[in-house]
Amino acid sequence: MAIRGASSISTTSKLLLQNYRLLKPLTTLTSTTTPPSTIISPQTFSEKPAPTYDASGFGSGSGSGSGSRLTFENGQDLFASVPTAKLLKSTLTLKMAAVEPVVDLGTWVINSKLMNVRVFKDLVMGFTKRTFYDHFVAGRNVDEAGETVKMLWDDGFRGMLDYGLEHVDDNESCDRNSDAFIKTADSTKSLPATSVSSVVVKITAICPVSILKRVSDLLRWEYKTKSINLPWKQSTLPIFSESSPLYHTLTRPEPLTPQEEQDFQLAQQRLKNIIDKCLESNVQLVIDAEDTQIQPAIDYFTHSAAVLYNKGDKPLIFGTIQAYLKDAKERLVLVKAAADRMGVPLGVKLVRGAYMSSEARVAASLGHESPIHDGIKQTHDCYNDCASFMLDEVANGPGALVLATHNFESGRLAAMKAQELGIGKGNQKVQFAQLYGMADALSYGLKNAGLEVSKYLPFGPVDQIMPYLLRRAEENKGMLSTSAIDRQLMSMELKRRLTAAVL
Ligand SMILES: Cc1cc2nc3c(=O)[nH]c(=O)nc-3n(C[C@H](O)[C@H](O)[C@H](O)COP(=O)(O)OP(=O)(O)OC[C@H]3O[C@@H](n4cnc5c(N)ncnc54)[C@H](O)[C@@H]3O)c2cc1C
Repeated sequence: MAIRGASSISTTSKLLLQNYRLLKPLTTLTSTTTPPSTIISPQTFSEKPAPTYDASGFGSGSGSGSGSRLTFENGQDLFASVPTAKLLKSTLTLKMAAVEPVVDLGTWVINSKLMNVRVFKDLVMGFTKRTFYDHFVAGRNVDEAGETVKMLWDDGFRGMLDYGLEHVDDNESCDRNSDAFIKTADSTKSLPATSVSSVVVKITAICPVSILKRVSDLLRWEYKTKSINLPWKQSTLPIFSESSPLYHTLTRPEPLTPQEEQDFQLAQQRLKNIIDKCLESNVQLVIDAEDTQIQPAIDYFTHSAAVLYNKGDKPLIFGTIQAYLKDAKERLVLVKAAADRMGVPLGVKLVRGAYMSSEARVAASLGHESPIHDGIKQTHDCYNDCASFMLDEVANGPGALVLATHNFESGRLAAMKAQELGIGKGNQKVQFAQLYGMADALSYGLKNAGLEVSKYLPFGPVDQIMPYLLRRAEENKGMLSTSAIDRQLMSMELKRRLTAAVL
């Protein structure tokens, strides 16, 4: 047993090392033989050995971490609370998702005319529901998502409730979506207190995309030329920095028509109604980032609402910064400084960004270079740099940070720095977040070390959530995909349990 255990750990170490090498320049790895917990030589965080965490009084879930050391290597510790049947199903689903031809065929089938044949569609949907959907989606409706929240809460995690609604272009659909978000915020009242860390909203679900494009154009032109007056503009935080992409707006845009202005106001009212319900339910609101064509308008919605609603030390509204953008750090610093001057506690969710190919395509079509960092190394550095900056800021000042990432190194660096700064012990200023069904080893490792971890929980009917599922399938396919470490650790833990049962 001892030999088997030792070899298992070294297999995982190799996998983690491979993962770090893929994600991190070789120059930052001091040794290829040292276990990952001691090899990281962070460029943007101060150098420290892997810390030991004191879990006392930390993590508000009823099942708080069993240990206090930050480690991602031991499947037995990481998945101690996961029943064997669930572990088996998760392993099989992730293994299936890793087989590229399966994912490619599935994607082709779902987008094909075959789906117009009722029997065939029912078969495909039934299979998807029992496999990928059950793994990556928290439920069909707010009640089922609530059950998932309770299950995670018992396991020591919080939930970010995300009703899977995206991109609509008429007021009727926006109203329907807005009602669904309000119902979601309301539902949190009947769940264990603080088990839901936030309700998540995409602005494209409550404001017609055509309006977001027009407002973004006008904001860009105002910043670029300082020559237009925007009568509808309220107090806000900076939306651009010197290096922000402005190429989407080549000529002076016409002012909003009375109809556009009315649609815009309706959308702002929808957001206000959602915020009021979040306030009443005592739950934070997180606004997702989308693509740079419409992000200025999304930031305007976010910042103007934050100016009105974020009071005291703790933000109610969080915006999102995408570290893959070249202007991310510069903008983050500007926004934080302005928020401090205005007495607004800034809430930031930090992600790498999910619109890489469309950003590159749009920029190329307009004859500009992509707004995304030239290489993955710059994106990783930018993420870690932004995380380090915000951790310093919130350690002794107002504001809060959600570190939304599946990247083990970023997670570990941020955890080390948070510990160094004494952040988190009950104050919930910093939380980590991973998508439901993804990077579970990272989530359990952080949680077991006493850190605050949320799972991001998309929910909705199977056909409505299909675009989200296809994105997850794409992200998880291939042997070296995001889920490689989870697959490896889960398989090892299953083998260990099986061996223990047989012996
Ligand atoms: C809780 C949560 C909330 C999220 N919310 C949002 C959101 O609001 N908006 C949004 O856009 N995304 C969001 N995402 C998705 C996120 O942006 C990433 O797509 C995803 O999490 C992968 O990044 P990672 O930090 O997990 O890092 P990794 O697992 O290390 O992934 C790195 C990925 O970054 C990509 N990449 C970025 N820049 C480059 C570059 N210059 N060259 C090559 N590859 C590059 C590659 O595809 C690579 O796979 C969210 C993710 C989570 C976990």
